[in-house]
Amino acid sequence: MDGHALQIQSWDADASAGASGHLTIDLAALQRNYRKLSAAVAPATAAAVVKADAYGLGAEQVSKALHAQGCRHFFVAHLLEAIKLRPLLPNDTQILVLNGLQSGAEVTCADAGVIPVLNSLEQFRRWSSAGQKLGRVLPAVLQFDTGMSRLGVPLEERSALAAELKGCGSIEILFIMSHLACSDEADNRQNADQLAEMRLIAAEYAELDVCFANSGGVFLGGDYHGVLARPGIALYGGAPTAGTPNPMEPVVWLDVAVIQTRTVPAGTRVGYGGAHVTSAETRLAIIAAGYADGLLRSLSDRGAVFYDGVRLPIVGRVSMDSITVDITTLPEGTLSLGSLVEVLGPHQSLEDVAKAAGTISYEILTSLGRRYERRYR
Ligand SMILES: *Cc1c(COP(=O)(O)O)cnc(C)c1O
Repeated sequence: MDGHALQIQSWDADASAGASGHLTIDLAALQRNYRKLSAAVAPATAAAVVKADAYGLGAEQVSKALHAQGCRHFFVAHLLEAIKLRPLLPNDTQILVLNGLQSGAEVTCADAGVIPVLNSLEQFRRWSSAGQKLGRVLPAVLQFDTGMSRLGVPLEERSALAAELKGCGSIEILFIMSHLACSDEADNRQNADQLAEMRLIAAEYAELDVCFANSGGVFLGGDYHGVLARPGIALYGGAPTAGTPNPMEPVVWLDVAVIQTRTVPAGTRVGYGGAHVTSAETRLAIIAAGYADGLLRSLSDRGAVFYDGVRLPIVGRVSMDSITVDITTLPEGTLSLGSLVEVLGPHQSLEDVAKAAGTISYEILTSLGRRYERRYR
C-alpha cells in the first residue's frame, strides 16, 4: 500500500467533511487563458490584474500560476494588496497599484518595493519628493484620464506634469497608461475617442511605452494593445466582449450540497416573506449557499442550479446561508442529503448567473464566499 496516497486521501476526506460547497479553481485553464490573451496581443505582452484577491479566486495561487506562464506585471487596486503579494512573487515581477498613491503612504510603498500608478500631478509631486528624501530614483507608472472621468491625470494637469517631469531626477516612469470605459462594447464610439486621446498623450511622451487594453480592449484589435495589456476578467473565464461567444475557458466551478429535501402541497409558502407560493404539489431541495456565499439576493425566484443537466429553479427568496430549489422535474429520490448540485459549471456559466442576477460576471466572481471548500486544480 502506498502510504503517501493514503495520507492524501484521508486529508481530502477531512477537508470535505462538513464542507457544504466545493469551489474548484482550475489553474491550468487560467494559464491557458493567459496564453491565449498573450497570443492575442503579441508582440505586446500581457500583464495580469489580480485586484480584489484576483477577482475572488486567490491572488497568491493565481499570481504564482501566471508567473509560471511568463507573466511579470501584476496590477492590484490597493497598496495593502500589493504589500501582501510582494513577498510571494519573485523579484523579476512588478506589482503596481491602480488606485494611486495615498498621502502618507509614500515611504511604505517605496520600502515595500511596490510601484504606484500616479493618477494626478499632486501624487507625482509627493512621489518625487519621497524619492529625493530617500535618495533614490523611484519607479512609477503615469495614468491619464482619456474620457472615463475616473482615475488618472486630468487634461488640465497635463502640461504642468510634462514640464515637471523633465526636470525630475527622482522618478523613473516605467510606462504610461489609461483605461477604457466601454471596451466590452465593440461598437461603442467611446473606444475610438479614448484611443485618439491616448495617441495624443503617447505622442507627448514618445519615449515611453503605452499600456492601454483591459480584457475587452484586447479584442478591439492591435491599435488598442500598446506594449502591455492589462486583462482581468478574461483570465478568470469571464466574457471580454458582450453579445459575442466567449473565447475564454471557464476557470471556476461551484457545486453546493443539498441539506434538506421536502414535498409540499399546492398553496404552500416558501421562504422568507412567503414570497413564493406553490401552485401544485412540489418537491423542494434546500441548498447550502446563500447571499453570504455570493448567490446574490437578486437571484430570488429568478436563478437556478443544475443537476445532471436538469435546470432546478430557485423558488422564493435567497436566504443568507441557503436557497430553495424546485426539484419536481427530477425522478423522486434523485437528490438527498449531501447530493451536490451545480451552481457554476458545464450547464451554467458565470455569464448565465450574472444575467439572472441582473449584474456582471465581475460581481459574481468577487462575491463568491469564503465558506466553500476551495480546490485548486
Ligand atoms: C480592473 C481594471 C482592469 C482589468 O479590467 P478587466 O475588464 O477585468 O479586464 C484593467 N485596468 C484597470 C485600470 C482596472 O481598474
